[in-house]
Amino acid sequence: MSLTTPELTNLTYDELEACFAEMREPQYRAKQIFAWVAKGASADEMTNVPKALRGKIAVTWPEVLKEQLSRTDGTRKLLVGFADGEAAECVFMQYEYGNTACLSTQVGCRMGCRFCASGMDGLVRNLTAGEILGELRALERTAGEPVSHIVLMGTGEPMDNYENVARFLRIVHDPNGRNLSYRNVTLSTCGVIPGIERLGAEFPQVNLALSLHAATDETRAALMPIDKRYPLNDLMKACRAHAERTGRRVTFEYTLIRGENDAEADADRLAALLRGMLAHVNLIPLNKVKEKSYTGSTREAARAFAERLERKGIPATVRRELGSDIDAACGQLRRRNRNESVNA
Ligand code: SAH
Repeated sequence: MSLTTPELTNLTYDELEACFAEMREPQYRAKQIFAWVAKGASADEMTNVPKALRGKIAVTWPEVLKEQLSRTDGTRKLLVGFADGEAAECVFMQYEYGNTACLSTQVGCRMGCRFCASGMDGLVRNLTAGEILGELRALERTAGEPVSHIVLMGTGEPMDNYENVARFLRIVHDPNGRNLSYRNVTLSTCGVIPGIERLGAEFPQVNLALSLHAATDETRAALMPIDKRYPLNDLMKACRAHAERTGRRVTFEYTLIRGENDAEADADRLAALLRGMLAHVNLIPLNKVKEKSYTGSTREAARAFAERLERKGIPATVRRELGSDIDAACGQLRRRNRNESVNA
Protein backbone atom coordinates (compact mmCIF):
# COMPACT_ATOMS: atom_id res chain seq x y z
CA MET A 1 0.00 0.00 0.00
CA SER A 2 1.26 3.48 -0.83
CA LEU A 3 2.30 5.79 2.01
CA THR A 4 -0.05 8.58 1.05
CA THR A 5 -3.52 8.75 -0.40
CA PRO A 6 -4.19 10.02 -3.91
CA GLU A 7 -4.90 13.77 -4.07
CA LEU A 8 -8.09 13.99 -2.01
CA THR A 9 -9.32 17.31 -3.39
CA ASN A 10 -9.95 15.44 -6.61
CA LEU A 11 -12.03 12.58 -5.25
CA THR A 12 -15.77 12.15 -5.13
CA TYR A 13 -17.15 10.90 -1.83
CA ASP A 14 -17.49 7.33 -3.15
CA GLU A 15 -13.90 7.29 -4.34
CA LEU A 16 -12.64 8.67 -1.06
CA GLU A 17 -14.61 6.08 0.86
CA ALA A 18 -13.19 3.28 -1.30
CA CYS A 19 -9.69 4.66 -0.73
CA PHE A 20 -10.13 4.64 3.05
CA ALA A 21 -11.69 1.18 2.97
CA GLU A 22 -8.55 -0.01 1.23
CA MET A 23 -6.47 1.63 3.96
CA ARG A 24 -8.60 -0.26 6.52
CA GLU A 25 -9.90 2.99 7.98
CA PRO A 26 -13.47 3.12 9.27
CA GLN A 27 -16.15 4.70 7.10
CA TYR A 28 -16.71 7.58 9.49
CA ARG A 29 -13.15 8.73 8.77
CA ALA A 30 -14.02 9.01 5.10
CA LYS A 31 -17.05 11.15 6.03
CA GLN A 32 -14.99 13.34 8.36
CA ILE A 33 -12.22 13.87 5.89
CA PHE A 34 -14.49 14.52 2.90
CA ALA A 35 -16.24 17.18 5.00
CA TRP A 36 -12.88 18.73 5.90
CA VAL A 37 -11.78 18.85 2.27
CA ALA A 38 -15.12 20.43 1.32
CA LYS A 39 -14.36 23.14 3.91
CA GLY A 40 -11.00 23.74 2.27
CA ALA A 41 -8.97 22.41 5.19
CA SER A 42 -5.37 21.30 4.89
CA ALA A 43 -4.36 17.97 6.46
CA ASP A 44 -2.99 19.82 9.55
CA GLU A 45 -6.34 21.46 10.17
CA MET A 46 -8.24 18.15 10.39
CA THR A 47 -8.15 18.24 14.16
CA ASN A 48 -10.41 15.26 14.83
CA VAL A 49 -8.28 12.98 12.64
CA PRO A 50 -5.38 11.11 14.30
CA LYS A 51 -1.98 12.63 13.54
CA ALA A 52 -0.64 9.42 12.01
CA LEU A 53 -3.49 9.37 9.51
CA ARG A 54 -3.14 13.10 8.78
CA GLY A 55 0.42 12.34 7.73
CA LYS A 56 -0.83 10.03 5.00
CA ILE A 57 -3.35 12.43 3.52
CA ALA A 58 -2.51 14.26 0.31
CA VAL A 59 -4.42 17.54 0.14
CA THR A 60 -3.05 20.31 -2.05
CA TRP A 61 -4.53 23.77 -2.34
CA PRO A 62 -3.46 26.52 -4.74
CA GLU A 63 -1.83 29.66 -3.36
CA VAL A 64 -3.08 33.17 -3.95
CA LEU A 65 -0.56 34.94 -6.20
CA LYS A 66 -2.44 38.21 -6.69
CA GLU A 67 -5.52 39.84 -5.33
CA GLN A 68 -7.51 42.77 -6.69
CA LEU A 69 -10.24 44.16 -4.48
CA SER A 70 -12.85 46.55 -5.83
CA ARG A 71 -13.26 49.59 -3.61
CA THR A 72 -16.82 50.14 -4.78
CA ASP A 73 -18.66 46.83 -4.49
CA GLY A 74 -16.59 44.18 -2.74
CA THR A 75 -15.75 42.25 -5.92
CA ARG A 76 -12.46 40.40 -5.61
CA LYS A 77 -10.40 38.94 -8.39
CA LEU A 78 -7.70 36.43 -7.55
CA LEU A 79 -4.89 34.85 -9.48
CA VAL A 80 -4.19 31.45 -7.95
CA GLY A 81 -1.10 29.36 -8.61
CA PHE A 82 -1.03 25.57 -8.88
CA ALA A 83 1.67 23.08 -7.99
CA ASP A 84 3.15 23.02 -11.52
CA GLY A 85 3.49 26.82 -11.68
CA GLU A 86 0.44 27.43 -13.87
CA ALA A 87 -2.13 29.97 -12.74
CA ALA A 88 -5.82 30.78 -13.18
CA GLU A 89 -8.18 33.63 -12.37
CA CYS A 90 -11.32 33.53 -10.29
CA VAL A 91 -13.71 36.18 -8.99
CA PHE A 92 -15.84 36.67 -5.86
CA MET A 93 -18.98 38.76 -6.38
CA GLN A 94 -21.73 39.88 -4.01
CA TYR A 95 -25.32 39.79 -5.23
CA GLU A 96 -28.56 40.24 -3.30
CA TYR A 97 -29.17 36.49 -3.49
CA GLY A 98 -25.76 35.52 -2.20
CA ASN A 99 -22.04 35.37 -2.88
CA THR A 100 -21.07 34.08 -6.30
CA ALA A 101 -17.78 32.54 -7.37
CA CYS A 102 -16.77 32.78 -11.02
CA LEU A 103 -14.30 29.96 -11.65
CA SER A 104 -11.89 29.04 -14.45
CA THR A 105 -11.98 25.50 -15.83
CA GLN A 106 -8.79 25.57 -17.94
CA VAL A 107 -5.47 27.37 -18.11
CA GLY A 108 -5.93 29.21 -21.41
CA CYS A 109 -8.54 28.09 -23.90
CA ARG A 110 -8.53 26.70 -27.41
CA MET A 111 -11.83 28.18 -28.61
CA GLY A 112 -10.16 31.31 -30.00
CA CYS A 113 -13.04 33.80 -29.68
CA ARG A 114 -11.68 36.93 -31.35
CA PHE A 115 -12.67 39.40 -28.59
CA CYS A 116 -11.45 37.31 -25.65
CA ALA A 117 -8.14 37.61 -23.79
CA SER A 118 -8.25 34.12 -22.27
CA GLY A 119 -7.66 32.25 -25.50
CA MET A 120 -5.00 34.44 -27.07
CA ASP A 121 -2.26 31.87 -26.54
CA GLY A 122 -4.39 28.77 -26.85
CA LEU A 123 -4.91 26.06 -24.31
CA VAL A 124 -2.18 25.30 -21.78
CA ARG A 125 -3.96 22.56 -19.87
CA ASN A 126 -7.17 21.44 -18.25
CA LEU A 127 -7.71 22.13 -14.58
CA THR A 128 -8.48 19.14 -12.37
CA ALA A 129 -11.64 19.03 -10.28
CA GLY A 130 -9.48 19.59 -7.20
CA GLU A 131 -7.89 22.68 -8.73
CA ILE A 132 -11.30 24.16 -9.57
CA LEU A 133 -12.34 23.42 -5.97
CA GLY A 134 -9.12 25.14 -4.91
CA GLU A 135 -10.20 28.35 -6.67
CA LEU A 136 -13.45 28.27 -4.70
CA ARG A 137 -11.58 27.70 -1.47
CA ALA A 138 -9.16 30.56 -2.19
CA LEU A 139 -12.06 32.95 -2.82
CA GLU A 140 -13.85 32.00 0.39
CA ARG A 141 -10.71 32.21 2.48
CA THR A 142 -9.71 35.64 1.16
CA ALA A 143 -13.26 37.04 1.28
CA GLY A 144 -13.88 35.48 4.70
CA GLU A 145 -17.39 34.54 3.57
CA PRO A 146 -18.97 31.41 2.11
CA VAL A 147 -20.06 31.19 -1.51
CA SER A 148 -23.63 30.12 -2.31
CA HIS A 149 -23.56 30.28 -6.11
CA ILE A 150 -21.04 29.17 -8.69
CA VAL A 151 -20.68 30.28 -12.28
CA LEU A 152 -18.28 28.41 -14.54
CA MET A 153 -17.57 31.51 -16.60
CA GLY A 154 -13.90 32.14 -15.97
CA THR A 155 -11.12 31.21 -18.35
CA GLY A 156 -11.63 28.05 -20.39
CA GLU A 157 -14.38 26.16 -22.13
CA PRO A 158 -16.04 23.85 -19.57
CA MET A 159 -17.30 21.48 -22.28
CA ASP A 160 -13.71 21.03 -23.48
CA ASN A 161 -12.87 19.72 -20.00
CA TYR A 162 -16.17 17.98 -19.38
CA GLU A 163 -14.97 15.05 -17.26
CA ASN A 164 -13.15 17.20 -14.71
CA VAL A 165 -15.96 19.75 -14.60
CA ALA A 166 -18.54 16.99 -14.04
CA ARG A 167 -16.38 15.60 -11.25
CA PHE A 168 -16.13 19.05 -9.67
CA LEU A 169 -19.93 19.39 -9.83
CA ARG A 170 -20.44 16.02 -8.13
CA ILE A 171 -17.94 16.93 -5.39
CA VAL A 172 -19.53 20.29 -4.49
CA HIS A 173 -23.03 18.80 -4.70
CA ASP A 174 -22.33 15.87 -2.37
CA PRO A 175 -24.38 16.03 0.86
CA ASN A 176 -21.35 14.72 2.79
CA GLY A 177 -19.54 17.91 1.84
CA ARG A 178 -20.74 21.30 0.58
CA ASN A 179 -24.18 20.01 -0.36
CA LEU A 180 -24.50 22.77 -2.97
CA SER A 181 -27.67 22.66 -5.03
CA TYR A 182 -27.12 22.17 -8.76
CA ARG A 183 -29.67 24.95 -9.21
CA ASN A 184 -27.09 27.35 -7.78
CA VAL A 185 -24.59 26.46 -10.48
CA THR A 186 -24.40 27.98 -13.97
CA LEU A 187 -22.17 26.59 -16.68
CA SER A 188 -21.31 28.82 -19.61
CA THR A 189 -20.34 27.43 -23.00
CA CYS A 190 -19.43 28.92 -26.37
CA GLY A 191 -21.74 26.34 -27.96
CA VAL A 192 -20.25 22.84 -27.94
CA ILE A 193 -23.36 20.82 -28.80
CA PRO A 194 -22.32 17.37 -27.52
CA GLY A 195 -21.45 18.97 -24.18
CA ILE A 196 -24.85 20.66 -23.98
CA GLU A 197 -26.51 17.31 -24.58
CA ARG A 198 -24.44 15.59 -21.91
CA LEU A 199 -25.05 18.32 -19.39
CA GLY A 200 -28.80 18.12 -19.99
CA ALA A 201 -28.77 14.36 -19.48
CA GLU A 202 -26.41 14.21 -16.50
CA PHE A 203 -27.02 17.53 -14.73
CA PRO A 204 -30.50 18.71 -15.73
CA GLN A 205 -30.66 21.12 -12.78
CA VAL A 206 -27.46 22.98 -13.61
CA ASN A 207 -28.22 26.26 -15.37
CA LEU A 208 -26.96 26.60 -18.91
CA ALA A 209 -25.57 29.89 -20.21
CA LEU A 210 -24.84 30.05 -23.91
CA SER A 211 -22.39 32.59 -25.27
CA LEU A 212 -24.22 33.59 -28.43
CA HIS A 213 -22.92 37.08 -29.25
CA ALA A 214 -24.48 37.11 -32.72
CA ALA A 215 -27.70 36.07 -34.41
CA THR A 216 -26.34 35.13 -37.85
CA ASP A 217 -23.66 32.60 -38.75
CA GLU A 218 -21.84 35.25 -40.74
CA THR A 219 -21.34 37.55 -37.76
CA ARG A 220 -20.95 34.75 -35.25
CA ALA A 221 -18.34 32.82 -37.23
CA ALA A 222 -16.30 36.01 -37.59
CA LEU A 223 -16.27 36.38 -33.80
CA MET A 224 -16.26 32.75 -32.70
CA PRO A 225 -14.54 29.97 -34.67
CA ILE A 226 -16.73 27.35 -32.92
CA ASP A 227 -19.65 28.56 -35.05
CA LYS A 228 -18.16 26.83 -38.10
CA ARG A 229 -18.23 23.50 -36.27
CA TYR A 230 -21.65 23.98 -34.65
CA PRO A 231 -23.65 26.47 -36.71
CA LEU A 232 -26.56 28.45 -35.29
CA ASN A 233 -29.33 26.29 -36.68
CA ASP A 234 -28.00 23.16 -34.94
CA LEU A 235 -27.02 25.10 -31.84
CA MET A 236 -30.46 26.63 -31.40
CA LYS A 237 -32.05 23.22 -31.86
CA ALA A 238 -29.83 21.86 -29.08
CA CYS A 239 -30.70 24.82 -26.82
CA ARG A 240 -34.43 24.42 -27.41
CA ALA A 241 -34.17 20.70 -26.72
CA HIS A 242 -32.21 21.47 -23.55
CA ALA A 243 -34.84 23.94 -22.30
CA GLU A 244 -37.61 21.45 -23.03
CA ARG A 245 -35.85 18.51 -21.46
CA THR A 246 -34.81 20.34 -18.29
CA GLY A 247 -37.73 22.77 -18.02
CA ARG A 248 -35.14 25.42 -17.24
CA ARG A 249 -34.55 28.76 -18.85
CA VAL A 250 -31.42 29.06 -20.96
CA THR A 251 -29.45 32.27 -20.52
CA PHE A 252 -28.02 33.70 -23.72
CA GLU A 253 -25.00 35.87 -23.22
CA TYR A 254 -24.59 38.57 -25.78
CA THR A 255 -21.52 40.76 -25.60
CA LEU A 256 -22.24 44.04 -27.33
CA ILE A 257 -19.41 45.05 -29.65
CA ARG A 258 -19.64 48.45 -31.23
CA GLY A 259 -20.45 48.27 -34.94
CA GLU A 260 -20.26 44.46 -35.01
CA ASN A 261 -23.43 43.12 -33.42
CA ASP A 262 -25.23 46.03 -31.75
CA ALA A 263 -27.48 47.42 -34.50
CA GLU A 264 -31.28 47.43 -34.31
CA ALA A 265 -31.36 44.79 -37.03
CA ASP A 266 -29.18 42.56 -34.82
CA ALA A 267 -31.67 42.89 -31.96
CA ASP A 268 -34.50 41.98 -34.34
CA ARG A 269 -32.67 38.92 -35.62
CA LEU A 270 -31.84 37.84 -32.10
CA ALA A 271 -35.48 38.20 -31.07
CA ALA A 272 -36.53 36.07 -34.03
CA LEU A 273 -33.96 33.41 -33.16
CA LEU A 274 -35.22 33.09 -29.57
CA ARG A 275 -38.94 33.48 -30.20
CA GLY A 276 -41.12 31.05 -28.25
CA MET A 277 -38.26 29.69 -26.22
CA LEU A 278 -37.69 29.61 -22.45
CA ALA A 279 -34.84 32.11 -22.68
CA HIS A 280 -33.26 35.15 -21.14
CA VAL A 281 -30.72 37.46 -22.75
CA ASN A 282 -27.85 38.83 -20.70
CA LEU A 283 -26.30 41.82 -22.46
CA ILE A 284 -22.71 42.61 -21.57
CA PRO A 285 -20.91 45.62 -23.00
CA LEU A 286 -17.57 44.27 -24.21
CA ASN A 287 -14.66 44.56 -21.82
CA LYS A 288 -11.84 46.21 -23.71
CA VAL A 289 -8.90 43.89 -24.33
CA LYS A 290 -5.88 46.00 -25.11
CA GLU A 291 -4.47 43.76 -27.85
CA LYS A 292 -7.81 43.67 -29.69
CA SER A 293 -9.42 46.30 -31.89
CA TYR A 294 -13.01 45.68 -30.74
CA THR A 295 -14.74 48.28 -28.59
CA GLY A 296 -17.74 47.86 -26.32
CA SER A 297 -21.08 49.47 -27.07
CA THR A 298 -22.13 52.34 -24.84
CA ARG A 299 -24.39 51.75 -21.85
CA GLU A 300 -27.13 53.66 -23.72
CA ALA A 301 -26.80 51.43 -26.79
CA ALA A 302 -27.00 48.39 -24.52
CA ARG A 303 -30.18 49.70 -22.90
CA ALA A 304 -31.75 50.45 -26.30
CA PHE A 305 -30.85 46.93 -27.47
CA ALA A 306 -32.45 45.44 -24.36
CA GLU A 307 -35.60 47.51 -24.80
CA ARG A 308 -35.94 46.41 -28.39
CA LEU A 309 -35.69 42.77 -27.34
CA GLU A 310 -38.20 43.28 -24.55
CA ARG A 311 -40.67 44.92 -26.94
CA LYS A 312 -40.50 41.74 -28.99
CA GLY A 313 -41.20 39.63 -25.93
CA ILE A 314 -37.65 38.48 -25.18
CA PRO A 315 -36.62 39.06 -21.55
CA ALA A 316 -33.29 40.87 -21.44
CA THR A 317 -31.08 42.54 -18.87
CA VAL A 318 -27.93 44.58 -19.13
CA ARG A 319 -25.50 42.96 -16.76
CA ARG A 320 -24.70 45.04 -13.70
CA GLU A 321 -21.07 45.95 -13.91
CA LEU A 322 -19.29 44.70 -10.84
CA GLY A 323 -15.71 45.49 -10.09
CA SER A 324 -15.54 48.17 -12.77
CA ASP A 325 -12.51 49.65 -11.04
CA ILE A 326 -10.66 46.30 -11.42
CA ASP A 327 -12.00 45.79 -14.88
CA ALA A 328 -9.18 43.85 -16.45
CA ALA A 329 -11.22 41.62 -18.78
CA CYS A 330 -11.28 37.89 -18.24
CA GLY A 331 -7.87 36.37 -18.72
CA GLN A 332 -5.96 39.62 -18.53
CA LEU A 333 -4.68 39.24 -15.00
CA ARG A 334 -2.94 35.98 -15.82
CA ARG A 335 -1.48 37.43 -19.02
CA ARG A 336 -0.21 40.50 -17.24
CA ASN A 337 1.30 38.49 -14.42
CA ARG A 338 3.10 36.22 -16.83
CA ASN A 339 4.45 39.10 -18.90
CA GLU A 340 5.65 40.84 -15.74
CA SER A 341 7.56 37.76 -14.66
CA VAL A 342 8.99 37.38 -18.17
CA ASN A 343 10.16 41.00 -18.10
CA ALA A 344 11.41 40.85 -14.52
N1 SAH B 1 -15.92 29.34 -22.61
C1 SAH B 1 -17.14 29.66 -21.95
C2 SAH B 1 -16.98 30.27 -20.57
C3 SAH B 1 -15.89 31.27 -20.36
S1 SAH B 1 -16.05 32.86 -21.13
C4 SAH B 1 -18.02 30.51 -22.82
O1 SAH B 1 -17.58 30.88 -23.91
O2 SAH B 1 -19.14 30.78 -22.45
C5 SAH B 1 -17.29 33.68 -20.19
C6 SAH B 1 -18.04 34.75 -20.98
O3 SAH B 1 -17.24 35.93 -21.16
C7 SAH B 1 -18.43 34.30 -22.38
O4 SAH B 1 -19.74 34.71 -22.66
C8 SAH B 1 -17.44 35.05 -23.23
O5 SAH B 1 -17.85 35.17 -24.56
C9 SAH B 1 -17.35 36.37 -22.50
N2 SAH B 1 -16.21 37.22 -22.83
C10 SAH B 1 -14.97 36.86 -23.21
N3 SAH B 1 -14.21 37.95 -23.44
C11 SAH B 1 -14.98 39.01 -23.17
C12 SAH B 1 -14.75 40.41 -23.19
N4 SAH B 1 -13.58 40.93 -23.57
N5 SAH B 1 -15.78 41.21 -22.84
C13 SAH B 1 -16.98 40.71 -22.46
N6 SAH B 1 -17.25 39.41 -22.41
C14 SAH B 1 -16.26 38.56 -22.76
